[in-house]
Amino acid sequence: MSTFEGKCHCGEVEWEVALEDDQKNTILCHCNACKTLSGGAYTLNQIVPKSAFKFTKGEDKVKKYTYTGDSGKPVHCYYCSNCTAHAYHHQTALGDDKIVLRTVLLPKGMDFQPAAEVYGKDRFGWEKEVANTFEILPPE
Ligand SMILES: [Zn+2]
Ligand SMILES: [Zn+2]
Repeated sequence: MSTFEGKCHCGEVEWEVALEDDQKNTILCHCNACKTLSGGAYTLNQIVPKSAFKFTKGEDKVKKYTYTGDSGKPVHCYYCSNCTAHAYHHQTALGDDKIVLRTVLLPKGMDFQPAAEVYGKDRFGWEKEVANTFEILPPE
């Protein structure tokens, strides 16, 4: 178990997360919501227990944006209201105790390796596969 510190782009909001070794596996998500919200071709994510995460600075500046995911259930996105960087998403379809963290906002997380790719159906044709790809999500 090691602790990783994260921060938003402007630095007004900071957080930390305690990760076990097997939680350092990065999931690439190619879904269209990730493209729109990030401005990139895909996002890098860590799926972790909510209890492993805490805001350490600027929690009062964190706002929530909610959209309806593919599952038909809400996805809550927690982001810095100043710079709009997303700290984490809570996909209620995954249950109440799991959150989806943005890997690249953990400076030390940039060393993590891809373990799987999800929403492969929405991958751009020019993107190379770097890990086992699922059409949508892995089977339960
Ligand atoms: Zn910020
Ligand atoms: Zn996505």
